[in-house]
Amino acid sequence: MTIRIVGGGLAGTEAAWQAASRGVPVTLYEMRPVRATAVHKTDRLAELVCSNSFRGDKLDNAVGLLKEEMRRLDSLVMRAAEASRVPAGAALAVDRERFADIITQTLTDHPLITIVRDEITAIPQSTETDPVIIATGPLTSDALSADLASVVGQKHLYFYDAISPIVLADTIDRSKVFRQSRWDRSLRGSQGSQGSQGSRGAEGAQGSQGAQGAEGAQGSQGAQGAEGSQGGEGAACGVDDGAGDYLNCPLTRDEYQAFYAALTSAESATVHDFDKERFFEGCLPIEVMAHRGPDTLRFGPMKPVGLTDPRTGREPYAAVQLRQDNLAGDHFSLVGFQTQIKWGDQARVLRLIPGLEAAEFVRFGMVHRNTYVNGPTVLAETWQVRARPTLFFAGQMSGVEGYVESAASGLLAGINAARLAKGDAVSSPPRTTAIGALAYYVSHANPAHYEPSNITFGIIQALAKAPRGKKERNEALSARALADLAAWMGSDLDFFVADHTRKNQDLTP
Ligand SMILES: Cc1cc2nc3c(=O)[nH]c(=O)nc-3n(C[C@H](O)[C@H](O)[C@H](O)COP(=O)(O)OP(=O)(O)OC[C@H]3O[C@@H](n4cnc5c(N)ncnc54)[C@H](O)[C@@H]3O)c2cc1C
Repeated sequence: MTIRIVGGGLAGTEAAWQAASRGVPVTLYEMRPVRATAVHKTDRLAELVCSNSFRGDKLDNAVGLLKEEMRRLDSLVMRAAEASRVPAGAALAVDRERFADIITQTLTDHPLITIVRDEITAIPQSTETDPVIIATGPLTSDALSADLASVVGQKHLYFYDAISPIVLADTIDRSKVFRQSRWDRSLRGSQGSQGSQGSRGAEGAQGSQGAQGAEGAQGSQGAQGAEGSQGGEGAACGVDDGAGDYLNCPLTRDEYQAFYAALTSAESATVHDFDKERFFEGCLPIEVMAHRGPDTLRFGPMKPVGLTDPRTGREPYAAVQLRQDNLAGDHFSLVGFQTQIKWGDQARVLRLIPGLEAAEFVRFGMVHRNTYVNGPTVLAETWQVRARPTLFFAGQMSGVEGYVESAASGLLAGINAARLAKGDAVSSPPRTTAIGALAYYVSHANPAHYEPSNITFGIIQALAKAPRGKKERNEALSARALADLAAWMGSDLDFFVADHTRKNQDLTP
């Protein structure tokens, strides 16, 4: 009995931990450093390739709920995230090196896990006692992609995502920027001076982000936009979730117009082709958003609502937010500023932002490939391939979007692969939970228009009687989800009560 897992990213490592924690031996194949991807920089498992944020961490947003469910399911990714947490207001952001070190070390030390550094070029044979999980992510190597295409019986779908630039902290002109969370919504409790505005602000932040979806930055997002997933809860590429401790670069109308003119005339591979390419709408390059209209950015990543420039006492005309990207605090990423402007031009355009005139870039923005299967055609709710139930897909390539969602799918695939190997029945939590809703979405959405999704309250089964008010409704959905998750876990206590060794294991590398 052995579970073979291909891919040591967010999904594969979580799956390995869940399966091994249930006493099933695991062989985890990771091709780095033998073979690189276009984006990963290290040989660490669970490397975060872009933003260091796991997004909102409160129960009034869906990704906060998903994370809480994962904690209750003893997620390794969540444990490592807590142990490497950096200040990010009401969001959960991590020191990426420490995060990856903890996961790498924990799995390396696990007596039931063997890690093999090699590229797998064809899907391994699988049986009920020896299931296989494929979790090779958006940058699945070419050889394996070709084999996957033959197994899923149709061509892969490809589209493109983009990532944000990072600047060196001591090259930011602090006399021009100010530190503030939108609506002063912060875990560090800076709400005092605003009194009751905190909670009003929290509502407002979500409201205005909803408007953002409607206004165009994410306007054509259809179901996802309507649910507010990219707005109220933050997008995979790190669009502001309204909940962090940020450095804000305020722009006047003139400064915004100068920036806009430079941006729309900059050389970008994306803009020339953007009608032909298929971008994930929650992760659009800024130049693509800008080409949708002069104000689109002011309702998207440059929106000023909820910010007050202390030097003027007023809301700026537009603002760029910078988020701390590592524990040392010497790297800051431009929130929601994914771009494919040519690098020389990128520096010139971004240095027009007040505070960034002399910025040095640790990393420029870029566009990357994203490989995923058509979930509803291929997968069951348990993350098994319908046509071959001893094979599981998990993570981004299975048709979810985002670090947390990828880890969540790996969690459930790992549990179910272990159940299968032990001869137990596989199952998925109910659709009233975030993790169950995600599994249901991936396996039951309309295959004709399938797009990978972040978790949103919109895909969780609605309440029979919902309270008035968005925040109250979301909190009620969360309360029901956690109760239903507990009931689901309680139905099979042997599988969910963690043993003492596991509970007491120290994750410090
Ligand atoms: C450039 C980029 C930026 C992104 N930015 C964000 C972001 O800011 N926030 C966010 O939430 N999500 C982001 N995503 C999505 C992100 O990739 C996923 O959220 C998450 O990393 C997916 O986890 P995963 O485990 O599915 O894949 P990964 O974490 O990519 O792990 C897959 C692993 O499989 C390995 N592998 C691939 N092929 C093979 C093979 N044939 N044999 C053996 N090993 C193989 C890879 O080396 C990799 O380690 C981004 C993706 C990319 C590519």
